[in-house]
Amino acid sequence: MHFEPVIGLEIHTQLQTESKLFCCCSTRFGAPPNVNTCPVCLGLPGALPVLNRRAVELAVKAALALGCTVHQTSIFARKNYFYPDLPKGYQISQYDRPLATEGALEFESRGESRRVGIIRVHLEEDAGKSLHEGLPDSDRMTALDFNRSGVPLIEIVSQPDVRSAAEAGEYFSRMRAILVATGVTDGNMEEGSLRCDANVSVRRPGEPFGVKTEIKNLNSFRHVQRALEHEIERQIDVIESGGTVEHETRLWDTAAGRTFSMRSKEEAHDYRYFPEPDLPPLQIAVATIEELKGTLPELPDARRRRFVAQYALPEYDAALLTQSHALAAYFEATAAAAGNPKAASNWIMGELTRKLNELGTDIESVALTPEALAGLIRLVDAGTISGPTAKEVFEKMYGSGRSAAAIVETEGLARIDDEASVQAAVQKVLAAHPDAVKQYRAGKKQTYGFLVGQVIKSMSGKANPTLVNTLVRRELDRDSA
Ligand SMILES: [Zn+2]
Repeated sequence: MHFEPVIGLEIHTQLQTESKLFCCCSTRFGAPPNVNTCPVCLGLPGALPVLNRRAVELAVKAALALGCTVHQTSIFARKNYFYPDLPKGYQISQYDRPLATEGALEFESRGESRRVGIIRVHLEEDAGKSLHEGLPDSDRMTALDFNRSGVPLIEIVSQPDVRSAAEAGEYFSRMRAILVATGVTDGNMEEGSLRCDANVSVRRPGEPFGVKTEIKNLNSFRHVQRALEHEIERQIDVIESGGTVEHETRLWDTAAGRTFSMRSKEEAHDYRYFPEPDLPPLQIAVATIEELKGTLPELPDARRRRFVAQYALPEYDAALLTQSHALAAYFEATAAAAGNPKAASNWIMGELTRKLNELGTDIESVALTPEALAGLIRLVDAGTISGPTAKEVFEKMYGSGRSAAAIVETEGLARIDDEASVQAAVQKVLAAHPDAVKQYRAGKKQTYGFLVGQVIKSMSGKANPTLVNTLVRRELDRDSA
């Protein structure tokens, strides 16, 4: 029996501010433990929070980029729970009056338009960090680092509109692209700037939603996808073997490739939210919201549509090229300099991506300028070099700083259009392969392709392929006539 997964995602992202949400401490990652702390973010008695304006602006930009309604009044609330890395005994968050509600993230997934609703975007502070391992006395005690305590976050809660593990990974990746493009976050996943919790249940189509589990703290697109694949399969197994799925929180074990239970919802916290008495309601003027709207850059989805319209690219190319701002910018610069957008797209998605993967690097640190790549494309378009030669030139250009024209010139790689030299090569190849020639003339026409290949090879891929084809055919047909 076929099952359909129903997935909702909660993404936490760290806002790109210099200082914390309610104090002046630095948000810098990697500082020695507990250096970036003060009475406010340590939760000492009597310390009072002061809201960071920049954090609010970034949160508003994120909400606007996701098409949400930003509310002129929102309320900070205390979320009460005890944990060693939360010395105040509560986290300041937003509860029943969040910053923004009702938006959507739209994207293209395998040729299909997808729309995932956004329920809410709210501001909150991060907690500190408990270090359970890696220190000399880790077998006896847990160390606490409060540098992260009070760092500004937004939480983005989606509707349960996602229908597969792959789509969840894609949603997360698109979300990152938007948040990075708008300058809301640095998007650094290794440093925890972006984390995802996934709620998932399965049902037979047409049935009401099943019991969901929550998988916590997924910090890469791949982990989101793999954890959900595993969890969906696990839930189907439970149901098919006559059991019931427990409402619980689970964690993903990357090494084991499975999820395991962290706590059941029976032991779930009752956070006893109430309005934060130390902060007034957050008021944002309409004019401020409008002003921030005006600062939003072109978003990935709009850029993808523009690429299709402006450059006549296939949807597939446009979707790939707009995955990151850097990649899209590289494409636009190459296309403009080469005067051939489709060729620019082919080179970037093909050879350049292959090269970057091979070197384990990315477009941000690419060692080939768009102008240099465009120079290569222009040589191909002008017929100066053949396709195979172009790949060879590309290899020599990458990282060397040499231009395509210089390489072609000094290494004598220009395409050979001279009929006499190609003719000589053709005759030599036919003479060397009398059997293939005989087979062709006996009606086995496939040997034609083989002979053409041999001629091109004998001329190191430099011969004009159209000319080779014509001359091989002419030779074979002439002598048989
Ligand atoms: Zn502080």
